[in-house]
This record gives sequence, C-alpha cells and structure tokens, in this order.
Amino acid sequence: LELERLGIHESVEPVFPPAELADYLAALPVEIAVVDDDMPSCDAIVTLEHREAFLEVDWVHSIQAGVDRFPFDEFEANDVILTNSTGIHDTTVGETIAGYLLMFARRLHDHVANQQEGRWERPDWDEAFTLSGSTACVVGTGTLGRGVAETLGGLGLNLRGVRRSDEPVPGFDEIYTTDRLREAISDAEFVIVTVPLTDATRHLFDADTFDAMRDDAYFVNVARGSVVDEPALIDALETDTLAGAALDVFETEPLPEDSPLWGMDEVIISPHCAAYTRDYVRDTGDIVRENGDRLEHGEAFHNRVV
Ligand code: NDP
Repeated sequence: LELERLGIHESVEPVFPPAELADYLAALPVEIAVVDDDMPSCDAIVTLEHREAFLEVDWVHSIQAGVDRFPFDEFEANDVILTNSTGIHDTTVGETIAGYLLMFARRLHDHVANQQEGRWERPDWDEAFTLSGSTACVVGTGTLGRGVAETLGGLGLNLRGVRRSDEPVPGFDEIYTTDRLREAISDAEFVIVTVPLTDATRHLFDADTFDAMRDDAYFVNVARGSVVDEPALIDALETDTLAGAALDVFETEPLPEDSPLWGMDEVIISPHCAAYTRDYVRDTGDIVRENGDRLEHGEAFHNRVV
C-alpha cells in the first residue's frame, strides 16, 4: 500500500465539516482532498458511510466505532483494509449517559417539559431519587462501557459489566459473561447497552430480556438500534413493565415521525449524537495520522477491523 492520495468523503458532514479534517491532516506527506462519490484515484478514504466504490481503494477508515454498515466479506475479497474509530468515545458517551440518568433520577426531563408549557409543577413526593447507591448493568465493556463506568462510578453507582469473557475490567465492581445476561440485569435500576451490532447481538434485547428486568428499571441504548427488538421495547414501555428509556439509536434513523416513542413521557430521544464533541475531528484525525505513520514505518495498523 502506497499512500499518495487520501480522500475525506463528504458523508462525514453530519459529524464535522470534511474540510476541518483535511486541514487537521495537512502535515501528512500525502495529497488530501474532500471527495464525493467519484473519488478520483484515492488510495485511502476517511468516511462515515459505505459506498460500493470504496472496494477499489486500499484503505477505508470509518469515523465511527461501529462498522456494522461495511460489508466485511467484500472488503476482504478485494484486499481493502478497514479501520475504525474505537477508543475515542469513552468520555463523550459516558457523560451523555450520566446526563440521561440524572434527568430520570432528578426528574429534570419533567421540568424541561413543564417549562415548555409555562407550568410550575413539582414531582410527586416519591418520584425523585438519587443515583448514588443504585446499580447500573453495562452490557459491553469496551471503550464505551469503560467510559460509562468511569463517569457513573464518580456518581456513586455500583457498576456491573457484561462481556463475552469473564476477565475483570477497570471501573466495574463485577463482570458477568453474556450467557448470564438475564441474571445480570435482573436487579439493576439501569441497564445500559454498549455492545457492537453483530450476528450475536442482533435483538439481544427482546421481550424475554425486557421481562427479566425490574419494572422500575430504566433502559439505555447508545449501541445500535438493531441490538434491540424495538416493538418489544415499545410494548414493555406501554405496559409499564419498564420505567423508561433513553435512546440514541434506532432500528430506522431518523426515528420515523409516527413512532410511539416520540410521545412517551419517560423516554428521552437523542438523534444518534451521544459521542458528539467539537473535538471529534481531532480525535479521529489522530487515529488516521497514527496509521499514516505506521504505514510509513511498515507497522501494523491501529484499530484494524478487516
Ligand atoms: P469496543 O470494541 O471497544 O468494545 C466492544 C465491547 O463489547 C467489548 O468489551 C466486547 O467485550 C463486548 N462484546 C462484543 N460482543 C459481545 C457480546 N456478544 N456480548 C457481550 N459483550 C460483547 O467498542 P466501543 O466501545 O468503541 O463501541 C461499541 C459500539 O458502540 C460500537 O460498535 C458502536 O456500534 C456503538 N457506538 C455508538 C456511538 C454513539 O454515538 N451512539 C459512539 C461509539 C460507538 P468481549 O470481547 O469481552 O465480549
């Protein structure tokens, strides 16, 4: 692989202006251009979305950690290297999730909703609670999971992690393996999903999993919409077998206007932006730059997926 021309694909626009990344990488000894779908003679592409034409380049870098939208088999068959941006979303997502949990516990979402209506209305005496001393079960203990544990640990929550192996993870009081998921979530006040979407995690959260949770538990998904059977979640919320949910990702994005989730008082919806930060362009740029250096020195790529 000779890196002479690096394209920044225009699909990154919803996360940061492509020209900002081109500027940030300007010191690399390669030609850098913002490109659309015809990417004249690029050797590498930095992108949000996938395009068929990427099978012609040597290296594709995803600005997201989740790479479920890329066809791994076709990349492999065409000798295309795929790298991702895992490792940079610990603090951003951790703080977003702390925000969701504080909104529910301290009833801040109710105050914001009441304010829209000019309404002075206090919570019932038994509605507000504190996060300190409650248990959060975090399913997926990678970059996101660890960032969540670090932030929530500071707020005094007990942290339980679920992963495939039973190796301990910093920040977690206990670790359960995925085959014990239902046991792990059964007494948690908060269940937080931070796993990649794979064949093994598609619809990991279905009616039976929601049944295994406490009726007063809150569910948080910042992973991918399809890790959850969305109709089963809606059913659990409508029948009050869950207290509420904070959702950043959905089976269909943008979330369709007619989704019942929009109208639920105990549901917080954010438009797939849990990891947004003005530093995103630099955090991703550092991974691309490091891999540029590694390529020059004949070393293996960091964050290589395919
Ligand atoms: P990592 O690769 O760092 O971590 C993934 C973790 O999931 C690992 O700890 C792994 O542990 C665990 N895991 C994998 N498969 C399973 C399984 N079947 N059951 C239980 N645990 C499993 O990824 P990140 O933390 O960086 O990102 C995770 C996902 O979050 C991304 O793939 C993406 O989809 C989503 N994401 C969403 C963002 C947003 O803005 N909403 C931002 C960034 C990421 P082990 O190997 O032990 O199983």
